Amino acid sequence: MSAQKPGELVFEAPRRGKPPRHLADLTLIERKQALSNAGLPGFRAAQLSTHYFDRLEDDPQGWTDIPAAQREQLREAMLPSLLTAVRELTADQGTTRKTLWKLHDGALVESVLMRYPDRATMCVSSQAGCGMNCPFCATGQAGLTRNMSTAEIVEQVVAGARSLARGEVPGGPGRVSNVVFMGMGEPLANYKAVISAVRRLVEPAPEGLGLSQRHITVSTVGLVPAIEKLIEERLNVTLAVSLHAPDDELRDELVPVNTRWKVGEVLGAAWDYAGQTGRRVSIEYALIKDVNDQAWRADLLGKRLKGKLAHVNLIPLNPTPGSKWTASRPEDEAAFVRTLEAHGVAVTVRDTRGREIDGACGQLAAHED
Ligand code: SAH
Repeated sequence: MSAQKPGELVFEAPRRGKPPRHLADLTLIERKQALSNAGLPGFRAAQLSTHYFDRLEDDPQGWTDIPAAQREQLREAMLPSLLTAVRELTADQGTTRKTLWKLHDGALVESVLMRYPDRATMCVSSQAGCGMNCPFCATGQAGLTRNMSTAEIVEQVVAGARSLARGEVPGGPGRVSNVVFMGMGEPLANYKAVISAVRRLVEPAPEGLGLSQRHITVSTVGLVPAIEKLIEERLNVTLAVSLHAPDDELRDELVPVNTRWKVGEVLGAAWDYAGQTGRRVSIEYALIKDVNDQAWRADLLGKRLKGKLAHVNLIPLNPTPGSKWTASRPEDEAAFVRTLEAHGVAVTVRDTRGREIDGACGQLAAHED
């Protein structure tokens, strides 16, 4: 992983050895085909898929509808181990859990499970590291190691689903209801794997995990051509755009990809998305003291979003180590909210779950120590 110069963007992920093929990389038809190609009975694909996505049973001993002699062979062919937990940190009385995962080639990524009274959200990574180089984001400082495969992305959600189903999270057995692509990486820079992962997450078992499309949020720095492509997928997922500034001068610095696609173009693509899906776009805005929290910027943001299918999610900045920036003063945050509301723009301030375990937004910086 090489750190980038300020403002430098990396779109092409370095090529590394591919992760082993896994059931979650494939559609059900492809799983059957893959088994037949390996000289194994294709009809086992549906059974294996039900164990994986529906029963969340990863121990071959529990696959009692499959002859014992075949289980290990099927596991090797279809369910290689992709993620190894190397550290687990909990906060909020155990209802926030951050896991550091090691991938087959030693690359490290993190995911965060957040359980609330009415829902459980998995925040997943889509790349090891990130090439988008946002100066306030811990992941952005480390550079891009590689893209994750579809199954590596899906496995993070399934791992959370298993923990919840097994009652390992306080609150009794439960299910994952929401997935946000707000862990490490820029999801739309790993487009194909992310779209396949979304399909696996929303299709009902045995094809996939059966989550609701609107409960999945894909968050992006604003890769305009990829947003336009996403519209064509006809997936009604929630789109989040990390705006962080309403003007190009500041956004060029905070979100360097703005030097390619300007605020006006990014918002244009966001409204196209909203128009096609009928879904409100979430505008992410990390409030940074005296950097992007001035009254005039709140007003400009309000003017740009007024009357649009948008919802602003203000995130108090989580300072990263060594950062010169910090979160806004409470009174400036409150004034920012009021100004947006005065323009009729829906706005909420995000909670800072997992902050003390570096599991909050922008704090994910996988390292072993
Ligand atoms: N690459 C995607 C996902 C990144 S993480 C994207 O940029 O949207 C999800 C959100 O956390 C993004 O809005 C990101 O800008 C924000 N974020 C990053 N670092 C942060 C920090 N230190 N404090 C608060 N929010 C941060």
